[in-house]
Amino acid sequence: MSDEAATVMVDGIAVTRIAMLSDNYAWLLRETASGMVAMIDPAEVAPAQAVIDQAGGRLDFVLLTHHHDDHIAGAAALVAQYGAKLVGNAADAARLPALDVAMQPGDVMGFGDTEIRMMESSGHTIGHVAYVIGRRIAAVGDTLFSLGCGRMFEGNPAQFYASLGRIAALPADTLLLCGHEYTKGNVGFALSVEPENAALRARAAEVEALRARGAATLPVRLSDELATNPFLRARSADEFGRLRAAKDRF
Ligand SMILES: [Zn+2]
Repeated sequence: MSDEAATVMVDGIAVTRIAMLSDNYAWLLRETASGMVAMIDPAEVAPAQAVIDQAGGRLDFVLLTHHHDDHIAGAAALVAQYGAKLVGNAADAARLPALDVAMQPGDVMGFGDTEIRMMESSGHTIGHVAYVIGRRIAAVGDTLFSLGCGRMFEGNPAQFYASLGRIAALPADTLLLCGHEYTKGNVGFALSVEPENAALRARAAEVEALRARGAATLPVRLSDELATNPFLRARSADEFGRLRAAKDRF
């Protein structure tokens, strides 16, 4: 799926993509039944404020996936302005702004009538987490991109492969909220791995057309990534490690 609209509805949750910096995305989640609002990984304050204020001026939670500046730099100011609670991985708290809710992978928090589950996803960094929101939304930060994955800055192939496996095991119609618009840049390597993959070729053409008119390629359905993403299609940690190293040189 490639939805050009900034907002899509999934199971009573409005998911809004917010472009930040040169190629980052923060994500705003609004549970329509309760009116509760959460934001994932705000790198900047002003673009977040604009969307929050348009949605009613409420922000209950800011959820952080990992410690990199381009995912956390706007968090403290937004928390202070709106009285939100900052949520992150207790194990990485020393590298995150002061957490109000320090969770561990596997922990669940309430978000109106919806549950948000923190999921271990180390590999890009150690202590990276994803958030599974309800049954069919997952904010995956820099673990998984469309047609690619994050660089392995701190983790090892076994960790990263296990993290991708946890994402792959989610329901196939899960909507993936990724941290960067890297899709077009990922096309060439993916095609070099599986040049005959028809689903990948179709996605490559779609991405080319979307980017040619400045449209976003995200969010994306897990089922589409399972059919096209070479890192998600790796069948062992060794194969994943070889692909990740080859992509770094590509
Ligand atoms: Zn990062």
